Parts: sequence; structure tokens; C-alpha cells
Amino acid sequence: MKTVRGIAVSHGIAVGRALVISRWESDLPRYRIAPADVRSEFRRFWRARRQARDEIGTLREKAARELGDKYASIFDAHLMILDDRSLGRETMGRIRDDLLNAEWALAKTVKRLLAAFAGVDDPYIRERGGDISDVHTRLQRILALESNREEGILELEEDTVIVAPSLLPSDALWLHQPRIVAFVTEQGGKTSHTAILANALEIAAVLGAEGVTEMVEQGDELIVDGFHGTVIVAPTAEEKDSRLRERARLEQLEAAFEMDRGPVRTTDGVELVLRGNVEFLEEVKTLHRVGASGVGLYRSEFLFLATAPRLPDTDQHFEAYCRLARELEGQPVVIRTLDLGGEKYFNDVLDSGEPNPVMGLRAIRFCLKRPDIFRTQLRGLLLAAAEYPNIRIMIPMISGLEEWREVRAMVAGVREELEAEGHRIPPVPLGPMIEIPAAALVVDALARESDFLSIGTNDLQQYTLAVDRGNRSVAYLNDPWHPALLRLLREIILAARRREIPVALCGEMASEPLGALTLLGLGLREFSCNPVMVSEVRSILRRCSEKAARRVVSEAMGLPTGKEIREHLEAAFGGLVEAVLGPSLTEDVGDGHQDSPRC
Ligand code: PEP
Ligand code: MG
Repeated sequence: MKTVRGIAVSHGIAVGRALVISRWESDLPRYRIAPADVRSEFRRFWRARRQARDEIGTLREKAARELGDKYASIFDAHLMILDDRSLGRETMGRIRDDLLNAEWALAKTVKRLLAAFAGVDDPYIRERGGDISDVHTRLQRILALESNREEGILELEEDTVIVAPSLLPSDALWLHQPRIVAFVTEQGGKTSHTAILANALEIAAVLGAEGVTEMVEQGDELIVDGFHGTVIVAPTAEEKDSRLRERARLEQLEAAFEMDRGPVRTTDGVELVLRGNVEFLEEVKTLHRVGASGVGLYRSEFLFLATAPRLPDTDQHFEAYCRLARELEGQPVVIRTLDLGGEKYFNDVLDSGEPNPVMGLRAIRFCLKRPDIFRTQLRGLLLAAAEYPNIRIMIPMISGLEEWREVRAMVAGVREELEAEGHRIPPVPLGPMIEIPAAALVVDALARESDFLSIGTNDLQQYTLAVDRGNRSVAYLNDPWHPALLRLLREIILAARRREIPVALCGEMASEPLGALTLLGLGLREFSCNPVMVSEVRSILRRCSEKAARRVVSEAMGLPTGKEIREHLEAAFGGLVEAVLGPSLTEDVGDGHQDSPRC
């Protein structure tokens, strides 16, 4: 038995067999085969094609069911490419004549096809290159999986833990299947998009587990503890037993949290609002189950990922937002405009040559550079808001007032255009995300011209501390208790209070017990959490007095380092957190020796 340590990012403990995926994109296996192996290499290629066809068919059905027929047609294009004669013939020719293994032969064929497509003048045909790349990635993944293990991703027969260098948000579609119970990656941090994905899928995950793809063998039994960030390889019977008992205890605890409904009010009567962060429409079910009061952040880039490489048109935007707003039955739904770019979101519309994408053309910067894409989204949003008054529009990565005014002018322009076409568009609340330190420092000016503010601590932390949120090597510096960050948060909340506009927080900090208590003490009233964390956060906030939280946090803010602040907060809140969650969940956030909560 050995233990690999990583970063705890999700809710849950899972047991399964390892499926190590280390060669999808890089390290393509390239070798010559013996003439006698030509037929078996053909068979590998045919099997991969058959499986890709099944996968695409399944995705097509899923897309048609969840997103409508227009999305499903993307997969028709993929099926046509897969069955295209030149792809098959040329690949098989290279296997037979050049004696290349299937992966290499396929990659060479695709390279030639892509070059041919890139040279075509017609932009529609050129765009089809994106579809070819997509199909190619799928085939290579299937071939890699098959050579790793004689089994495909849709034919998993036992509970499986995916072990990979990294995963992308776009991997969500295939990860979302019952046999995949957890994932472990080498890259990624607590607030990375892969962590967000794990929570959206409601599966256990440990990220930043350096060297895990080397340490774990194919088929090893693994226990993935998403609470504590540990992966136990080949556990003993006793260890397995004890973790399974712990899991049962946590499941009971969670069921008890979910029963603990009713208004979210502190012990001294302060009313709080708990909403959820959503990436997939399916998560709305969880929001209803846990009794959240609406969506505080819908990450609309997931809609773009679902249609990639095509971009959603106005109707697709409109339909998706209407569906979300309808399913929320009148509760507020804050839809964030496109936040593509940065370290994790890929799309062919982005320039892959960006030298430093986290600081580059991301989110609103990209949208202002590509008004065609942004205006299409705004049209869909405003039309949906005309049908569903619970929609609010939020803009990511605003850095200052000039940029904010430019966005407001653009929204006003799209509104006028729609009204000139005969639509009646009511006023729609519009607010910036405060997630860049510059915006936090001029928040008073922004608040004056906004309907609401929403704080994105994942990015605010990344940019304040200059720590890439997905980079394991600097994860130790990613300190949510750094006084600089807490001071910025205090100023943002105060500015909104002064202008009497709502301020919410939708970063991961609101989903952490200690984080939520700290935010309460900073004066926050609206929290937007991972849907799976809503019940837990509610149970904690309902047992605390706002006055006591303010006192504790104000004492903590007088301390000069993140370590001292954290220790102070743990000493004060640890007892309460432990009383609600039990000792095992608090062991990595507190000393667990508090006799009674001070709150
Ligand atoms: C944030 O930055 O805190 C946030 C909520 O947005 P995202 O995680 O999608 O960047
Ligand atoms: Mg952000």
C-alpha cells in the first residue's frame, strides 16, 4: 500500500480500479510493425472506428436530448468524417505500405487532410478542419486506451478511477458515466477548472498529484479521498474497510444536511442567500434537491464547449438560457457571458499562440475583440431575459471603468437593435465580476454604474498573488487567507453596501466552511457555491452569529500573515466546523481541539 498526496478538490471518497491515460495528446506511440502484423493493426484501427462511432452516436443522442437537434447535427458531421473513405483508405495504406502502427498512420493522414483544408479559401470548409481534429483526438484516445487496456471508455465494467496528467472541461461529456467514480490528475489546483468540473460531475477527485501517472499501474485498486486529497494505491483490507465506513458516515451526514432546510438565517437573525454555480443544465436538479435559491453563476463557456468547434448561434443561446431560467422557476439566474481563454478553456476561435493566456485575451477582453461572437450571445441573452425576468447578466474579468462602460454601451446597442426589430426588452440587471485586483481597487466607481457585483475569488486570488491557479509548483503560495486578498474582499463588500447594490461571491471560497464563515464576518450576505456544497455551507452558517463572525474576522484582519490569520480563524471557527462536520473533515483545516465554538 502506498499513498500519493495531492490537492483535495471535491466531495467524496471513491474506490475503483485505475485506468491510466498518459498518452492521449503527447507521446503518440510511433513504431514500425512487422509485415505479419498488418492485419492485426488494421483490426485495431477498425475497432477504434467502431467504438468512435458508438461514442459519437451516444453523444449525439445526449446532445439532442439536452441541448436540442441543432447541437446534435455537429455529431452528424463527425460521423461523416469518421466514415470518410480517404481517412480510412489512406490510414490503412500507410499501415500496409509503410508498416506504421495505427496511431502513427492515422496522425500522418490527418496531418495531410488538415493541411489541405487549411489551404481552402472558403471559410466554411476551412472550419471543418476543427471537426477533423476532434474526430482524430477521439480515435487516438480510443487507440491509447485500447493499448493500455483491452477495453474502451464506454465499455467499463467496473468502478474506474481515471488517472491522467490533466483533464479539460471538454472531457466532461465522456467522464459523465456511472462507471467513472473518480479522477486523479497531476496538474490542477483547488480553484482550477478541472476542480470545478469534478464538483459539477459530483465525483471524487484529487488534483496536483505529482507523478501519479508513473506511480500507479494499470488496474491498481485505488481509494480516492477527495476531502483530504489522498490517493491510496493497493489499500489493505482494513484501510479499505475504514474508508468505506467513513464514506457511509459522510453520506448520512449529507442526507442530514439536506434535511436541514428552511431560511438561511444566522443565530442573530441575519438573512443570507445561498445560490449555486452551474456548468451543465443537469445540475439544476441538484440545486432543487439541496434547496438553493437560484443560480449565482452559470458558466456559459460550457455551452460554447458543447457546440465546439462551431459557435452557438442566437437561437442556441436563447434556448439554453430560457431552459435554465424556466427550470429555476422564477428564482434568480445569473448568466455569465463567455469566459473562454485562460489556462483551461480551449476553442478554435482562440489564438493558440498566446504566450501567456491567463494574462491575455480571455473572457471580456476576447469578447470585445470579437464583437460578432459577443453580440450574438447578448442577443440570445436579452431575448431570453424578455421571456424570463429572473435572468441577470454578469460580465467576467472587468478591469476598470472604461472597459465596463464599453460593455454597457454594447449591451445598450444590442438592446436598441432588438427593439428596432420589434422586440420589447425590459431592463435586465447587469453586473461586473470583480476578479482582477485593479477592478477591486476602483470598485467604488464600478459600483456606481452597476446593478450588482459578484466577486470571483478564484481569479482574484490568482491575480492578487500572481499564482497560476492550475499550476501545482506554485500551489503552496495560493493562500486564500493572505491579508492582501482579505483586504480587497472587505473593500468590495463595503463599496457595494455603500451604493446599496447586491454583492455576491461565486468563487470556491464560498463553498469552504472556513471560507464561508470568514465571508460572513466580512459582511457578505449572498453566497454562490458548488451545488453539492450548498447544504453543508447552509448548516454551518445557520449555526453562527454574524456579530461573532465579524468580531473574529476583524481580529484576524489585524494580523500580518496568511498563516496567522488562518490559525486565528481556525481557533475561533474550528469548534463550530467540527461540531457540524465531525472531526475527520476538519482535520486538515483546524487543530480539532476546540472544546466549544466561540461563534
Ligand atoms: C472566479 O474566478 O472566482 C470564478 C467564479 O470564475 P471562474 O472560476 O469560472 O474563473
Ligand atoms: Mg473567474
